[in-house]
Amino acid sequence: MDWIDLRSDTVTLPTPQMRAEMAEAEVGDDVYGEDPSINRLEEMSAARMGKEAGLFVASGTMGNLSSILAYCGRGDEFILGNLSHTFIFEAGGAAALGGVHPNTLSNQPDGTLVLEEVEAAIRPDDIHQPITRLVVLENTHNRCGGTALSVEYTRAVGELAHDHGLNLHLDGARVFNAAVYFGVEVTELVDPADSVTFCLSKGLSAPVGSVLCGSNDFINQARRIRKQLGGGMRQAGVLAAAGIVALDTMVDRLEEDHSRAKQLARGLSLIPGLVLDPGTPYTNMVFLSLGDGVPFSGKEMADRLKESGVQVGVVSKNRFRLVTHYGIEDADIEMAIGAFREVMGGV
Ligand SMILES: *Cc1c(COP(=O)(O)O)cnc(C)c1O
Repeated sequence: MDWIDLRSDTVTLPTPQMRAEMAEAEVGDDVYGEDPSINRLEEMSAARMGKEAGLFVASGTMGNLSSILAYCGRGDEFILGNLSHTFIFEAGGAAALGGVHPNTLSNQPDGTLVLEEVEAAIRPDDIHQPITRLVVLENTHNRCGGTALSVEYTRAVGELAHDHGLNLHLDGARVFNAAVYFGVEVTELVDPADSVTFCLSKGLSAPVGSVLCGSNDFINQARRIRKQLGGGMRQAGVLAAAGIVALDTMVDRLEEDHSRAKQLARGLSLIPGLVLDPGTPYTNMVFLSLGDGVPFSGKEMADRLKESGVQVGVVSKNRFRLVTHYGIEDADIEMAIGAFREVMGGV
């Protein structure tokens, strides 16, 4: 079945050009530093982010974890949002594998952390307390609705962190979506951060991988950690080849996903019983809930939509996340709206 799959932008399939380049990719042993395609992707990524060096990693999770472990030793602490991907969805890797202690602050609805709260969370020099090493921000913020953090805000957090001798890591899984949202260069958004991870495998449609970028010293250390984590891959250039196409061809089209998300939200907002989150969508995610009095659960709703060929993410009891991406065309948006209307018609 040809699904209209709005669950995530991770479901994107490689483009025909990606498959062609993967088949032809020049490869070597990347653990020896000899894979030309990997080296090229890492250089391109670093240049794109305005950093000295890049490291291809198997996933965004591995990129964030490698970064946290590069900055923090056992018993050290990092500050992050209570709704961040790293806190909720990375299986507690920093604690499990690094003994690194998370100090969570409440994410504001726009995905930010309150600056005063970040400052207050930084530990004093006191043997009773862990040592704070790092702040982690997320842009765009997944759980907060795909909201984008501004250059000014990121700069303010970077200054605060650096004034206290801390590092700032940006989980920029969808940082290109944030750049499109603000109409700024991605380098401006990531400049205040010492390191950044971005995903090739989401809106950019590559099949596998993320790239971690930062200074040469930092990347050397992260490369060793990646090896410890089992992420030293060999002829991984077949994957990098798709990543190169992703950077070359898939960034500029993200605007289309944002405009289709708006189109989707507009259509759904007219259907009685559906309640859209205020402000949604910011980028490529539409968040909505079932209103009071709708006699079925989010899960039941999702099952009924699936019968019409539409898949949606159920994020809590009555709440949905719909993500637009390369596999979603204008006609799919209209069909998805129609499927919602039909299911809700009986309410
Ligand atoms: C998807 C995602 C990641 C990493 O995901 P992987 O599935 O491990 O590649 C990290 N942060 C955010 C905000 C994400 O959305």
